[in-house]
Amino acid sequence: MSKSIALLGSCGSIGTQVADVVRRLGGRIKIASLATHSNADMLIAQAKEFGSATVCIGDESKLNYVRESLPGVKVLGGKEGFREAAVAEDCDEVIISVAGTPGLQPTLDAIEAGKEIALASKEVLVAAGHIVMKAARDKGVPILPIDSEHSAIFQCLNGEDPKTIEKILLTASGGAFRDTPKEVLENVTAEEALAHPTWKMGKKVTVDSATLMNKGLEIIEAKHLFGVAGDKIEVYIHPTSTVHSMVEFADGAIIAQLGMPDMRLPIQYALLYPERADTNLPRLNLFDVARLEFSKPDYDRFPCLALAKEAAKVGGTLAVVMNAADEVAVSKFLAGEIKFTDIPKIVEAAMSGHNTIHNPTIDEIYAVDGETRRSLAQ
Ligand code: MG
Repeated sequence: MSKSIALLGSCGSIGTQVADVVRRLGGRIKIASLATHSNADMLIAQAKEFGSATVCIGDESKLNYVRESLPGVKVLGGKEGFREAAVAEDCDEVIISVAGTPGLQPTLDAIEAGKEIALASKEVLVAAGHIVMKAARDKGVPILPIDSEHSAIFQCLNGEDPKTIEKILLTASGGAFRDTPKEVLENVTAEEALAHPTWKMGKKVTVDSATLMNKGLEIIEAKHLFGVAGDKIEVYIHPTSTVHSMVEFADGAIIAQLGMPDMRLPIQYALLYPERADTNLPRLNLFDVARLEFSKPDYDRFPCLALAKEAAKVGGTLAVVMNAADEVAVSKFLAGEIKFTDIPKIVEAAMSGHNTIHNPTIDEIYAVDGETRRSLAQ
């Protein structure tokens, strides 16, 4: 089987790991279309390496430079360019690894065009899961999760009747401050927050792992992907990230997926599904792991988790507000403007001032997202 993909967000942490997996698969996957926000030089190098016919650069001031560097390649720009890159005719599957909600419209366009979706941007489902999942069902298009926990759950559900899911057991490493006392959390630095114990990821998701907001966003993501109520999704702190997540069924059986904490594994699974292949990635040795430990999350030290559970329960635009406020708060923390412990306070204040719209339209989602960001910008 050979496949042709569009890779949206090609220069980020996930995008570059997708490129690495494609390289390892040695010609089985073709990257026909590439899109990135602003890293023109990496985009040009990727287009040359993979022989891509279409590329898009979000930052339009670099459009001419990319055009001159890639003769014979269709070069698009801006938001509209992302949308066009997502529906490139010669692509079967679209990888969405664009940071945040800008991935939403291209995802919907790709579904509408009948493309398979491999989704790394959890914000797409957090903001508009009800719209995205319905569009995919209507079109008969699969949404293959790239988030490691959701890839694990997806694998645990292979051949199972979703109606028999009793509970989803979502594992969390606990992030950089798993054992840090509450009073110390006040003064932790961005550098400390970025030192993730097990996974190599982008900055936003690494800080989200430290606040446990990442796990909160993943509860909402799982709710939409697997059609399970938020209160059936339970978080397990599991420091080694060996078990990537589990599903408990009606008969009490628990099925787990284990592996190295390496994003290339879920990426490869989404690229080849339902096939598996050996691409010489590092293997898990259970004798080295020796012990699997699980504990309950500490809601007192990590208030973001409770906020996300509330957003999962209420649904609608409350999750949009939470997501946008978190993104603003995390960037302020990374810039040294606020404390680590201010992140949940900012998110909570934004959520408590919001009148939730249930079953929002795309326009309402964008309006609420924009309003939340504007009100927190000063
Ligand atoms: Mg994850």
